[in-house]
Amino acid sequence: SHWLSPANNKGEHSWAKHYPYCGGAFQSPINIKPELLRFDPTLRPVEVQNYNLSPNEQLTLGNNGHSGDLLTYAGDLQISLPSKMYISGLPHRYTAAQLHFHWGSSGRPAGSEHMVNGRQYAAEMHVVHYNSDKYPNMSTAVDKSDGLAVLGVLIEVRLTNLFCLIFKLADQRVQVPGFNIRALLPARLDEYYRYDGSLTTPPCYPSVLWTVFRNHVTISGKQVLATALYSSHAQDSAPVPLNGNYRKPQLADSRVVLVSFKEGKYGLQNELALLLEHECKSHMNDMAMAALL
Ligand SMILES: [Zn+2]
Repeated sequence: SHWLSPANNKGEHSWAKHYPYCGGAFQSPINIKPELLRFDPTLRPVEVQNYNLSPNEQLTLGNNGHSGDLLTYAGDLQISLPSKMYISGLPHRYTAAQLHFHWGSSGRPAGSEHMVNGRQYAAEMHVVHYNSDKYPNMSTAVDKSDGLAVLGVLIEVRLTNLFCLIFKLADQRVQVPGFNIRALLPARLDEYYRYDGSLTTPPCYPSVLWTVFRNHVTISGKQVLATALYSSHAQDSAPVPLNGNYRKPQLADSRVVLVSFKEGKYGLQNELALLLEHECKSHMNDMAMAALL
């Protein structure tokens, strides 16, 4: 599965050979351009439920190492989420499954997947939910047209161009205490872009109702994060630098992007500063805590 590695930026060009959906319609991410937008006054604010997790709840954090497991279909830093978390305000109830991140590299620090009018942000978080009104679990829902709903959060990094974490082992898992997942989202959940798209990694099923929040969040810190990102399998002798795990923008084709807000309200942006106190260390447990607490 090495061809899947984001370290090989050419990898995504061969996805469609192995996963036909990757070369098909309704693919994500997209560049959210003004000409695609249509204001929809019926769009309700996203309501997140039970996102404030107790420290007593253990979350599993791991680097999926591009295992191809449908449950861990995207992202290298992934946190499994408890099923009591869900979003309402959509046509169905969507139960949370996991969240993960996409980021850039030291050579090219911009690594968000969605762009807004050509602007790529430092990183992007995806909170993945499945349609639990219709499907019993993530793996059943993942290839259904109404199966998934993903919240996309654009992330800006202040004081540094690097958004980096170090994972030593691709399939290592670690438990981290629960925390308030809501704090990872922008303050305003009523301003967003909505469109029909896909998983951004193979098998690229066009099963995602995307919500990309208008307002980004800002991560800042004293000695911000780390300098390298690694993925390696236990049997590998040396870690492989993992850079730029984002997919390039896909064609919008005939799609429109619904917007819940009217243009002209720019300037009300309400950034959330996430202060990351901890210095980056090479140990995964330390990194997990530094990233999350
Ligand atoms: Zn993702």
